Amino acid sequence: MYMNWGTERTFAVRSSKIVTPAGLIDGAVFVEAGKISAVGGADSIPKGTRVYDAGNLMVIPGLVDTHVHINEPGRTDWEGYDSATRAAAAGGITCVVDMPLNCIPVTTSLKAFKEKLAAVGSQIHVDCAYYGGVIPGNQSALSDMVKAGVVGFKAFMVDSGIDDFPYTKPADLSTAMQILKSLDVPLLVHAELDDSDGTAVYAEHKLPEPYASYLKSRPASWEVEAIKTVIGLSTQHDCRTHIVHLSAAAAVPDIMAAKARGTKITVETCPHYLSFDAESIASGDTRFKCAPPVREKANQDKLWQHLAAGQIDFVVSDHSPCTPQLKLMGEGDFEHAWGGIAGLQFGLPAIWSGAQKRNISAETIVRWMCEQPPKLVGLSAKKGKIAPGFDADLVVFDPTQSVSTAAKDIRHKHKVTPYSDLPLQGRVEATFVRGALVYESGKFPTEHFGKSLLKGQF
Ligand SMILES: [Zn+2]
Repeated sequence: MYMNWGTERTFAVRSSKIVTPAGLIDGAVFVEAGKISAVGGADSIPKGTRVYDAGNLMVIPGLVDTHVHINEPGRTDWEGYDSATRAAAAGGITCVVDMPLNCIPVTTSLKAFKEKLAAVGSQIHVDCAYYGGVIPGNQSALSDMVKAGVVGFKAFMVDSGIDDFPYTKPADLSTAMQILKSLDVPLLVHAELDDSDGTAVYAEHKLPEPYASYLKSRPASWEVEAIKTVIGLSTQHDCRTHIVHLSAAAAVPDIMAAKARGTKITVETCPHYLSFDAESIASGDTRFKCAPPVREKANQDKLWQHLAAGQIDFVVSDHSPCTPQLKLMGEGDFEHAWGGIAGLQFGLPAIWSGAQKRNISAETIVRWMCEQPPKLVGLSAKKGKIAPGFDADLVVFDPTQSVSTAAKDIRHKHKVTPYSDLPLQGRVEATFVRGALVYESGKFPTEHFGKSLLKGQF
């Protein structure tokens, strides 16, 4: 509706439903040079102000997605900065944080981080921050990577699927935590502890149903045991630690208890664990393969309950795409298919749709997807709230409209996604990044406006 809006970043957005930290208001958001200068009543808009009139559509803060695998450089045929950040903009995400794998080289050294920044160049459509990786033996590289701007580190406790990104044993995590504590960055942990050789387990549990076999090969106990170990280490070193992509609700009580004791631990879950359940996944449908796996409906219900109770901190995508060939769709081979779900563009409507069935408010969704994630990476004074002084990262959202998952409307590099199976409601109509209209009604009026956010420089 505003395709000739232009690039001026001083204006007001008018809406009858603006989600602010003080609740839902009918009024206007004032933007000056890309920052929010004030939030007030519509009658306070001075004459002559340019107004983006969202009418009765909802205006929410841009989402901050702190768990995205963009894969460039090196595996740009899987996903890249241009396509991923277009998908982000179309999905109402105004800031992503990129994981240190599955790019080549993996981001486990200063040299590799510089190569990544060079590859990013000026092709991003939303803001982007970066993690480094902790692998056995790279502890001497961590401090230099923080000085160069990474906002945190990721480690695995189980095979990552990428040979160049080996997993860490508890002793490696312990060494890393001692260093990271003094650098004021969090350690993010993929928490599954394989209590045997994964392939053997898969073979042992090989049932006629491929999905059932896969699920059985990565039981909830792997997550529960790994999380107990992480809690122990985090408590010992007083290091800020974050559990990524929690699937097993059974681990939440341990996390709650640790938080109550003062351990600096947080936890995220993902739209796929909240949207899909093992009982409904067609047996050979490898689009759903991810690790940890999507579990049973009863587990999903518990995840929603823990979120609603504030016991899970936030929801981010874990967008982890690959080429359709690597998903081995024809064969239905859960053992060898790439484990990762492509869903960056559909996180908001997936959560919105699930929340409608459970009477969860827009303010609550904004807390899970906008306000909480930036706290992890030091961006909470700039991103995730419609309040004076914050970046004018704004999303115009129509809760009543359905969302197309037709291939032509999917902005991920590849169009294979399990969200194609869901009726999704809650459509992003427009996205502003720092006051620039980067997405509107399927188009990208301002291209490449995103910038890299480096620790120490924001
Ligand atoms: Zn991931």
